[in-house]
Amino acid sequence: MKLEINGISKTFRGGYQALDQVSLTFSPGEMVALIGASGSGKSTLLRHISGLIAADAGDNQILFGSRPVQANGVIGQHIRQLRSQIGFVFQQFNLVGRLPVLTNVLTGGIARIPLWRSCFRIFTAEERAAGLAALARVGIAEHAYKRASALSGGQQQRAAIARTIVQRANMILADEPIASLDPESARRVMQTLADLNRQDGTTVLVSLHQVDVALRFCPRTVALSKGRVVYDGPSNQLTESMLRELYGAEADELLSAAPVPNTADLPVEHLPLSALAAAA
Ligand code: ADP
Ligand code: MG
Repeated sequence: MKLEINGISKTFRGGYQALDQVSLTFSPGEMVALIGASGSGKSTLLRHISGLIAADAGDNQILFGSRPVQANGVIGQHIRQLRSQIGFVFQQFNLVGRLPVLTNVLTGGIARIPLWRSCFRIFTAEERAAGLAALARVGIAEHAYKRASALSGGQQQRAAIARTIVQRANMILADEPIASLDPESARRVMQTLADLNRQDGTTVLVSLHQVDVALRFCPRTVALSKGRVVYDGPSNQLTESMLRELYGAEADELLSAAPVPNTADLPVEHLPLSALAAAA
């Protein structure tokens, strides 16, 4: 489903304007990086898209499919239903650590499961099989019955992605999913998101701190600075000089990241093409 963001501004209490007239359109099946220095508004934008925060009043809207997530500063009536189609992946994984990995993953299907069953965490054989298949797909099936807290950060993040598979989300919003991971775990998490995007056509919108990762995995990049969209286009056309111009002193924050290794398994169109990547 298409995601349309029209004229979204957000001023928090205290007067800080975190988003300034953001308008963006995402087609079904896109994989887009949302980059920007700390405080540029990435999380705030993702929270607006998920209907967790209402924008300032005014002539603005966010539509998913043709239905409003929010309009004119008011959250849409059907937000629960819309949200059931959107998978969320957060920096801190958001799993229940004391519960088995499989149980965490099965909660992705909760919108389709009768309340009494989900309350008691009773799942059918079919649901469990779907959960195990999702875990196999993200490469951690052997950990299904461990407590989530026993997994490494990268494995927990892949479990969080498996949960969106069980949810049958047709869009994934990932807010800095690799920010607390080592480079190899980061690469695997990004590769898992890219596989879902290419094989299932899941739309992926992923906020990142690092330009090099955006370049490697996302054909399109949206760059925010101080709540404004300062670039929206092919990732491989972002250059270091453009970033320095757009971000000034903040550019170092975006350019200093350690490169993600092993691009050999990526198709050619996702390989870093610009001088920036060559320099990384
Ligand atoms: P990013 O995710 O790019 O680091 P955020 O979207 O978290 O940036 O924050 C953008 C700006 O909005 C920051 O200056 C932050 O302090 C401010 N901000 C975010 N959430 C709130 C809030 N609930 N109340 C007040 N200010 C906020
Ligand atoms: Mg953030």
